[in-house]
Amino acid sequence: MLNTLIIKSLPLMPKPLVASVAKKYIAGSTLAQAVKVTKELEQKGAFATIDVLGEFVESKQQAEQEFRSSMAVLEAIKDHNLRAYLSIKPTSLGLGIDIDYGYNHIAQIVRKADSYGIFVRMDMENTPYTTDTLNAYKKLRAEGLSNCGVVLQAYLKRTQADIRDLAPYNPNIRLCKGIYVEAESVAFKNPEEIRKNYKECFYLLMESASKVGIATHDDILIDFAMAYINKHNIAKDHYEFQMLLGVRENKRDSIIAAGHSMRIYVPFGEDWYGYSIRRLKENPAVARNVIKAFFNPNS
Ligand SMILES: Cc1cc2nc3c(=O)[nH]c(=O)nc-3n(C[C@H](O)[C@H](O)[C@H](O)COP(=O)(O)OP(=O)(O)OC[C@H]3O[C@@H](n4cnc5c(N)ncnc54)[C@H](O)[C@@H]3O)c2cc1C
Repeated sequence: MLNTLIIKSLPLMPKPLVASVAKKYIAGSTLAQAVKVTKELEQKGAFATIDVLGEFVESKQQAEQEFRSSMAVLEAIKDHNLRAYLSIKPTSLGLGIDIDYGYNHIAQIVRKADSYGIFVRMDMENTPYTTDTLNAYKKLRAEGLSNCGVVLQAYLKRTQADIRDLAPYNPNIRLCKGIYVEAESVAFKNPEEIRKNYKECFYLLMESASKVGIATHDDILIDFAMAYINKHNIAKDHYEFQMLLGVRENKRDSIIAAGHSMRIYVPFGEDWYGYSIRRLKENPAVARNVIKAFFNPNS
């Protein structure tokens, strides 16, 4: 009840206040800051996937700006010799405006990345775009591009079928729970059901994917995946753990110390607000600090 109230109040809070609490989730507003954070993560034994913040663009002008920003990330990864890859949001590149138009941007990015030996991950957004995003991924793979992967969300009831459908492409998949608000007709709502589906999807992916990104901060799922990896002696190039910047850093370090690969999602850009609100909604304990600071700035 209190958490619901906190979450509903967040959008009413002044932006600078949200920024002060949310900044740990974001590398900064510039690419230079993302490069700096990526280098710091590499020193800690983690890899990064760099994401230009922005999604659901409304004009081709915005999509073209996002396209140039993603291309700039590729140049920076190459110039700084980072062991990082790029994450892209299909709608930010225009997939929601026009499928061919968005695909053209995505394909240009993946081809350029391929020429630099860099991997590109297509993030998964909300359900109006699931099919189009998966179709775009299949088209890239059919073009012979293997330096790309996509995300599947365990909260979606369709995901096991999607895994079976993607199997012939030997896909590289990041498996996460899913973050968008979806209807009960298409998504599991109960946390236990989502976990159960995550585990079932994980088993299927271990059979059919070239590599699985285990993207979760959930101890139960991390322990489950580790037990499977150890029991079946899964090769290191077949999986990696993935976490968000600023979330559960002690856990991140312990997974690295145990000898597993860890990739951190490093978002940067001017468009930080929507992303920050989503992260804060996931964690009412941190969101509470925003509300507290609003009502009592001296607290
Ligand atoms: C690398 C990566 C990429 C992702 N890409 C996508 C994507 O493309 N599409 C998509 O829909 N979703 C994506 N997500 C988000 C994901 O779907 C979940 O919403 C998010 O990771 C929270 O789920 P969880 O599995 O960590 O479990 P939860 O049950 O939400 O979290 C487990 C525990 O982690 C801690 N925790 C979780 N979030 C936070 C936070 N923000 N701050 C502090 N502590 C926290 C809490 O202690 C919580 O109890 C991604 C997540 C990761 C890690």
